[in-house]
Amino acid sequence: MKVLKIGSRGPQTELVQLALSRRDGSMDAPDGIYGPETRRRVTDFQSAEGITADGIVGPQTWRKMEPWLTGFVLHRVAPGDSFYKIAAKYGGSVRAIDAANPGIDPFNLKIGSVLTVPLDFKVVPGNISFGSAALDYCLRGLKARYPFLQTGSAGYSSLGRPLHWVKIGNGELETFYNAAHHANEWITAPVLMKFLERYAEACVSGGEIGGRDAQTLLSRASLYIMPMVNPDGVDLVTGDISAGSAAFSRVRELAANYPEIPFPSGWKANINGVDLNLQYPASWQLAKKTKFELGYTQPGPRDYVGKAPLSQAESRAVYDFTVKRDFSLTLSYHTQGRVIYWKYLDREPLGSRRIGEKLSQLSGYALELTPPESAYAGYKDWFIGDYNRPGYTIEAGIGESPLPISQFDEIYAANEALLSYAITAAEDN
Ligand SMILES: [Zn+2]
Repeated sequence: MKVLKIGSRGPQTELVQLALSRRDGSMDAPDGIYGPETRRRVTDFQSAEGITADGIVGPQTWRKMEPWLTGFVLHRVAPGDSFYKIAAKYGGSVRAIDAANPGIDPFNLKIGSVLTVPLDFKVVPGNISFGSAALDYCLRGLKARYPFLQTGSAGYSSLGRPLHWVKIGNGELETFYNAAHHANEWITAPVLMKFLERYAEACVSGGEIGGRDAQTLLSRASLYIMPMVNPDGVDLVTGDISAGSAAFSRVRELAANYPEIPFPSGWKANINGVDLNLQYPASWQLAKKTKFELGYTQPGPRDYVGKAPLSQAESRAVYDFTVKRDFSLTLSYHTQGRVIYWKYLDREPLGSRRIGEKLSQLSGYALELTPPESAYAGYKDWFIGDYNRPGYTIEAGIGESPLPISQFDEIYAANEALLSYAITAAEDN
């Protein structure tokens, strides 16, 4: 993490503000500007934590803030401790401690053993610019709270960021959701992460997610989620890649070839200027022809198909991840338009229309045919083409990307029932 001080700006400052507001319960919306008020709050935080109160967020302060970003602390069991006492000490709940520590007998706590103690707030924020650092914290936090989640990396981005995946459920039916192929559509990443959190929580509480019984879903299907296919691009758009860095200078040069597209807010591509959702082997030559005719002939902010299909680390990783599994249905999240695309060429996998209509009904998004200029080389196109199974592009929200985070709650609300239904939709055919 970066060293932050007065004058710092960006998503990491938002993370600090998020941690501070969770800790003091103020729940102020982060603004990403490290001004005098943020410095005062950091200094107070440092004093309370017993570290040097210099108002600068360095490695030690970041470490102290971690529980407020991951949502848990580690507690060493002392004589006389009980789940109840520990919950009271940290403001958490007995049920949450129980869920986070499977196999531990609460009536026979071993003194000196270490327990994971969830804190009393939701891990996934809906009010910050959600970049790769936020995703790392959230995944660590959810894994600690819900040890039945499995996590891994499908590979690494061009800049070396892990391409995280997470699996929830243990049924035979396999389903796959991915998001943020496009950099300035990063708002889709916290949508999937929030769904994951609410689904896991419902499994523990014996409740429902999107109107369906969570435990039943868990036992019927294995849901794989890759929340951020393009972490480098997301970090560029959210402002986490410093203006002085080599990576930033390089992309700015690429962006200069397309002066009419705002930079970096108009950036959809990965850090090499390749549009990852034009990288899949599904009429890729046609995608190339179409996009070249529109003037996207070289690396840049959007719509450049790359030198060959799967030439980029990120699209290759998603492809390999898919090939190794047996997905019966996939959803790819994008933004703009409140539309669901369900077809590739004339392919109509069994049940795909009916499932698409249901997705449309649950979200209020329109089910439409893909417009001709984006009909090729996308993830959905390749999945439908190669597997002849239902695959969808969900275009969430409306307006110019990046959508403001103020749309987050509305987007999430429109998608929860859809996300829940799609987990087993292929089998309910
Ligand atoms: Zn997109």
